[in-house]
Amino acid sequence: MPRSKCISCGHHEFEAVPVVNKNGQNFCLVQCVACGVVVGAVDDVKVANVVRKAERKLSHFLDSLQKG
Ligand SMILES: [Zn+2]
Repeated sequence: MPRSKCISCGHHEFEAVPVVNKNGQNFCLVQCVACGVVVGAVDDVKVANVVRKAERKLSHFLDSLQKG
């Protein structure tokens, strides 16, 4: 899979910056760590869901290790 590249400077590391808009909604801006150009935005709820799913997978994995 090709690595994501910043459209502005070509850097390939990004960070998610939590922000709150004027309606009080939480979301994350995805921005280049080198130049700060915003390359995307994600719903905070979606981020939480992704983390929760990953946690569930990990605990299943650990369970199966203990049983095995
Ligand atoms: Zn950049």
